Amino acid sequence: MRSIISYIRHMARPEWLKKFFFAKTAPLTTPAHFRDFPHLTDKECTHCFQCMMICPALGAIEVVRTEKPGEWKPVIYPGHCIRCGLCVEICPELVLDAGRVHTKNAQDGTYMQFQFHITVNPVTCMGCGSCTVACPVNKEIDPQLAAKGTSTSDEVIMRVYKGINTVFHEDKCTGCKTCEEQCPTRSILVARVLEPLQLEEEK
Ligand code: SF4
Ligand code: SF4
Ligand code: SF4
Repeated sequence: MRSIISYIRHMARPEWLKKFFFAKTAPLTTPAHFRDFPHLTDKECTHCFQCMMICPALGAIEVVRTEKPGEWKPVIYPGHCIRCGLCVEICPELVLDAGRVHTKNAQDGTYMQFQFHITVNPVTCMGCGSCTVACPVNKEIDPQLAAKGTSTSDEVIMRVYKGINTVFHEDKCTGCKTCEEQCPTRSILVARVLEPLQLEEEK
């Protein structure tokens, strides 16, 4: 009991009360770099799925069909979202926004892009061509692609060349990973490479 009284006496000192009620603190402002949970803008989603592909948090974002025919939208699950803002930065249609991500990026002239990097293990690749034939982009570029993965076109993403799967145009890869799934020896890997870029200032 005595300790409570002494505590109250200590807390009720006039100089402390004065400080408590009249001390000036810095105004509460949201820092420019703060990234809140993403929310939808009124822009139309083209269901490119880039936001889902870039998201580092499992189950944080999903692009779904709405009840309106032909309409899609991303859905954020706050329990999983870590508020990194990458989906906001990558969306080419500005469907998402969070905090001041767009404003800051516009001020800094920064933007984000990613591409896919394909690695073939030359030791374990048998040159069977399963990945090459399964690749949907390859099929579109060269419908005559042979069952063994050989092709006469140099425009394909990859083809069997000198007994091994050889990559020619990884810039055309969409990251679907069909090739990975089809490879019987797990010799092909498709990794997403993120690249933050800055617009060059006009001279
Ligand atoms: S929200 Fe943006 S990035 Fe995600 S699917 Fe729609 S258009 Fe693509
Ligand atoms: S803010 Fe980051 S974690 Fe959250 S949905 Fe977007 S990409 Fe995923
Ligand atoms: S990830 Fe898809 S598009 Fe890219 S090389 Fe593999 S199958 Fe082709």
